[in-house]
Amino acid sequence: MSPTKHVYFFGGGKADGDATMKNLLGGKGANLAEMGKLGIPVPPGFTITTEVCTYYYANKRKYPAELDGQVKTSIAQMNKLMGVTFDDPKNPLLVSVRSGARTSMPGMMETVLNVGLTSKTIPGLIAKTQNERFVWDAYRRLIMMYADVVMEKAAGIEPAPHEGIRELLEEEMHRVKVARGVKMDTDLTAADLKTLCESFKKIIKKQLKKEFPDDAYEQMWGGIHAVFASWMGKRAVAYRKIEGIPEEWGTAVNVQAMVFGNMGDTSATGVAFTRNPATGENLFFGEWLPNAQGEDVVAGIRTPLPLNVSTKTEDQKAVKSLEEAMPALYKQLNGIQLKLESHYRDMQDIEFTIQEGKLYMLQTRVGKRNGTAAIRMAVEMASKKEKGYQITIEEAIGRVKPDQLDELLHPMCDPIAEKKAKFLAKGLPAGPGGATGAIVFSADDAEAWGKKGKKVILVRNETSPEDVHGMRAAQAILTAKGGMTSHAALVARGWGKCCIVGCSSLDINARTKTLNVNGVTLKEGDLITMNGSKGTIYLGDVKMLPADPDNNKWYKTLMTWVDKTRKLNVRTNAESPEDAAQAIAFGAEGIGLARTEHMFFDPKRIGFVRQMIVSDSVEERTKALANLLPFQREDFIGIFQAMAGKAVTIRLLDPPLHEFIGDLPAKEIDELAKKLGVTPEKIKARIAQLHELNPMLGHRGCRLGVAYPEITEMQARAIFEAAAELTKKKVKVLPEVMVPLVGTVKEFENQEAIIRKVAAEVMKAAGVKFKYMVGTMIEIPRAALVANKIAEKAEFFSFGTNDLTQMTFGYSRDDIGGFLPAYLDGKILPADPFQTIDQEGVGQLIQIGIERGRSSRPELKVGICGEHGGDATTVKFCHRVGMNYVSCSPFRVPIARLAAAHAVLEEKAAAACCKSSCKTKAAKPAAKKAAAKPAAKKAVAKKAAKK
Ligand code: ADP
Ligand code: MG
Ligand code: MG
Repeated sequence: MSPTKHVYFFGGGKADGDATMKNLLGGKGANLAEMGKLGIPVPPGFTITTEVCTYYYANKRKYPAELDGQVKTSIAQMNKLMGVTFDDPKNPLLVSVRSGARTSMPGMMETVLNVGLTSKTIPGLIAKTQNERFVWDAYRRLIMMYADVVMEKAAGIEPAPHEGIRELLEEEMHRVKVARGVKMDTDLTAADLKTLCESFKKIIKKQLKKEFPDDAYEQMWGGIHAVFASWMGKRAVAYRKIEGIPEEWGTAVNVQAMVFGNMGDTSATGVAFTRNPATGENLFFGEWLPNAQGEDVVAGIRTPLPLNVSTKTEDQKAVKSLEEAMPALYKQLNGIQLKLESHYRDMQDIEFTIQEGKLYMLQTRVGKRNGTAAIRMAVEMASKKEKGYQITIEEAIGRVKPDQLDELLHPMCDPIAEKKAKFLAKGLPAGPGGATGAIVFSADDAEAWGKKGKKVILVRNETSPEDVHGMRAAQAILTAKGGMTSHAALVARGWGKCCIVGCSSLDINARTKTLNVNGVTLKEGDLITMNGSKGTIYLGDVKMLPADPDNNKWYKTLMTWVDKTRKLNVRTNAESPEDAAQAIAFGAEGIGLARTEHMFFDPKRIGFVRQMIVSDSVEERTKALANLLPFQREDFIGIFQAMAGKAVTIRLLDPPLHEFIGDLPAKEIDELAKKLGVTPEKIKARIAQLHELNPMLGHRGCRLGVAYPEITEMQARAIFEAAAELTKKKVKVLPEVMVPLVGTVKEFENQEAIIRKVAAEVMKAAGVKFKYMVGTMIEIPRAALVANKIAEKAEFFSFGTNDLTQMTFGYSRDDIGGFLPAYLDGKILPADPFQTIDQEGVGQLIQIGIERGRSSRPELKVGICGEHGGDATTVKFCHRVGMNYVSCSPFRVPIARLAAAHAVLEEKAAAACCKSSCKTKAAKPAAKKAAAKPAAKKAVAKKAAKK
C-alpha cells in the first residue's frame, strides 16, 4: 500500500492538484495548482492537506510520520525549478508559509513571508542580489511577522494592551524613522534596517523570553505549525461562528518560493479584481504599490495606487497607475485576468507580484462582492458573451444570495439634504449606501453601544481581524488608512455594510476618543453621516432616502428572471395602505396577514376599544363597537384599494384584551371612568379580572370571538361593507377572512357562521355581490393534527409559525432570551427557531397539516405568515412542502421572491443528480417504488398550488 499523500506539489507548468480539490488543498492551494496547470506564471511550491490539520488536532498536535519525507522531496523539487537551494549559504531559496482554508477568511489566518533568512543565508543573498537594503528589509519583515504569528499568537500568548510584540516592534521602527528624520519605510537605509533587525531580536528575547530562530528549517516548521494553530485561534473561531464555517474543515498550508516586489523600482506588488467588487462594473480594477511586499497593500500602511487609467478617481489623476508605469507588464497582467475570469466563469480576486520586471501570480479566487455588484455582474454575465464566456440565467439567479438583495433595499443619503449638510471629509467609497451614527473608537465600544441599541459608526486608523465583532455591531465603518482592498473594505463588502476607507484627513486619537477632521473636533458619541457610495462624510445626521431598487436596471432584470422561475407566490404582512403600497412596489402579490388589532392602538380609537372592554352588557359593548366600525371600514377600504384586486387576508382580533388596557396609569383610568360614567374602581376591577397568568395561552384568538360574538360581527361588517362599497365603484376586491388560533373545528364553525351571516346581510343591503373566503390560521399543534376536519369547513390555511413554534417547543417567544444563548452555544439548538423554522419538528406539523387538510379539500390554499416567511431557508422549505404562498414584511418581499426561485433551482439540481445516480446504479424495483411515492404526492400538491 502506498503511503497517504499529504503533500501536493505545483510549479513548472504542472501540479498534483487542481481547482476541484478545495476540500483537500484549501481554496488557495487548489487555485495555485490550477493556475500552474493553465500555464500562468506561479512561483513553485507545495500544499500540505487539510487532512493533516485534522490529524494534527486529533493527535495532540503531532504530524503523520510520512510528512517530513514528503516535504523534503517537495523542497528538492522547488530548489531544482528555482535554481536555488533552501538553507544554502551561497544561493538561498526563501519561502512563504501561507494558510488556506476551503473558503477565504480574509486576514483571519496567518502567513509568514521570507522564511529561510538566517545568519548563514543572509551574506549569500546579499552577495547574489547586490542589494543589501532589500535583504535587511526582507529580514526585518520576517522577524516582525514570525515573532507575531509564530512566537506569540501560535504560542497562545495573550499580551496586555499595547504590549503585543508586533506593536512593540512597530514602535521601535517608528522610533528609528523619527531619529533618522524620515517618513516612509522605504526611506530607511540598509544600515538602518540592519541595526533595526538587531534591536528587534533583543526586544523579542526580552518580551517573549526566546531567541528568534536562526535555522531555516526551524523557521519553516514553525510557520507550518502556526498556520495549523491559527485554525483554532480566537480570531478564526469568532469568524467561523459568524460565517457558519464548520470547524471540521481544517486549513491547508502552502509553502511557496518567494518572489520579491521590494527589490527596487522595477518591482511591485498588487491586488486586483477582474470586475469592480463594489459596483459590479465590468472594468479590471485594482491597486498596486511599487517597491513593496504583498502585505503592504492589504495592511494599509501606504495608500496604494490605482491599477489603470480607466478606474482612476478624480483625486487620483496625478498619480501613476501600473498601466502607465509598466505598460508591458500591465498588458500581460490584463491578459491573465481575462484568462482567469473566463476559465472560472466568475469575477476573480487576484494577487500578483512583479520582481525586477517579471510578473508572478500568487493567488486567485472567486471575489467577494456586495449585493449591488453581485446583481449587476450576474445579469451582465448572463446577458451577453463577454470575456469569452456567458453564464445561464439559472446560474445568474443562483449567484445572488437572498440576503444580498437586502443591501439594495437599504437607505441612501438624500442628495438634497446631503448638499446642505456640513461636509467633513472624503475617503474611498468601499461599501455603498448611507449611514448615520454616533462615532466610537474601538471595536469593544462599538459592540457595547450596539448592544444598548445605539447606532454607531466605528472610526479607526485601520481595522484588523481583532475588530470584526465591533465592525459587525456598527452601522458603518470609517478608516483613515488603507485602500479598497484593505481589511475594513473587504469585511464590510462581505456584509454589505456602508464603509469608507483611506480618509487621510482624519486625525484619530483613540486614547482620548477624539477625532480632528479639517478643523472640526468630534468626540465619542457625536453624530456623523456617511455616504458610502461616494466616500463623503458629513457632520450630524443627514436625511436618508428609502431604497429605490426600481431605478436599478440590473435588479429589475434579475427579478423578472426570478419571477419566471419561482412557483411560490409572495405576499406581505401589512396593516396600512402605505405599507401595502410599498410591498406592491417590491413585488408583493397580495396581503397574507393584516392584523386588525394594529388598527386599534390609534389614539382616536383606543378610547372606544377600552370602552368596549369595560362594558358590562352586550348592549353597551355593541354601542362601543359601533363607534369603531367606521374606522375599521376606512382602513379596509384603503388597503383594498392599494391592493387593487389582489387577495387580502384579514385576521380577526387576536391578542388578549388585557393588552389594550392593562398598563393604564391611574390618571388615565380616572379620565376613562369619567368618560364612561363609571367609577375608577369598576375599571380597576375589570383590569384585574382580565389579568392572566399565561396570557399567550389565555383568552385570545377565536376564544375572544366565541365569548364576545359582537366583536367578530363588527369586524366582519367593516370588512364586507368596505368590500361592498368598492365593488359598487367597480374596484375589484378579494377579502379572505381569517379566524385565529383555532384548535377544534367547532371553534371555526362558530365563527364562520357569524362571518357568513354578516356577509349575506351586507350584500343584500348594498345590492352587490363579491367573492370572499373564510379560512383559519393553523398555529396550535392540535389544529395541524385535525387539519382534515378543519379543512372540511375552512377554505384556506395560513400557518402562524410564531405561535406554532411557541406551542410546539413550549418556549415562550418573549422569554426565550433567557436560555437561547446557552442553547446555541451548547449546540442544543442549531438556530433560533423563531427566526428560521425548525423543519424537523414544527416542519413536520406543517407537513401533516397540509397533507391532512388537502386530503379533505384538495384545492385548499396554504400559506405561511409571520417573520419566518421572509427567511430564505424557510421559504425554500415552504416550496418543498407545497405551499401556495409565503407572506412576510414588505422589505423582505424581494428576498422571499429570490429564495423561492432558488428553491426551484435546487429542486431541479437534486432531480438531475438523482436521475444520474439512478442510471448508474440501476435502481432496485423496491427503491423505485418508494421513490415514486413522494413524487406523486408532490404532483397533487402542485396541482393544488396552481389553483
Ligand atoms: P491572505 O490569505 O491573508 O491573503 P496570503 O497567504 O495570500 O495571505 O499572503 C499574504 C501576502 O503575502 C499576500 O499579499 C501575498 O501575495 C504575499 N505572498 C504570499 N506568498 C508569497 C510569495 N511566495 N512571494 C511573494 N509574496 C507572497
Ligand atoms: Mg491569510
Ligand atoms: Mg491572499
